[in-house]
Amino acid sequence: MKTFDFKKIVQWLGFVLKCPICGHKYNLEKTKVLESDQNESLNEAHLLIHSDCLKCKSSVMFNVEIHGPEVFSVGMVTDLTGQDSAKFNKLGPIRTNEVIGIHQALKNFKGDFVSSFTQK
Ligand SMILES: [Zn+2]
Repeated sequence: MKTFDFKKIVQWLGFVLKCPICGHKYNLEKTKVLESDQNESLNEAHLLIHSDCLKCKSSVMFNVEIHGPEVFSVGMVTDLTGQDSAKFNKLGPIRTNEVIGIHQALKNFKGDFVSSFTQK
């Protein structure tokens, strides 16, 4: 069975994918693979890619599924940078106590963003 050459796949995607906001072609240097896995026996692979547009500065995450000769790609505009995406990808799901915590904080919030985001 052949193995997937992710570097080649990303190069190909960098050539094919365009920014959904401005249509600018993606630069490979600004494209990172966040997640990848493959199943060689089924000839399948999965890639999660983050890319920053050099022209309009927007960020997009692409989920790429490869099933033999078929390639499916879904792009999603995000406000996360490549660093943010890697950071949040490692974190677990939001817990109940965190939701209750933000609910209570918002309940007491009086609209003063400066004091809320300044360390005391
Ligand atoms: Zn763009």
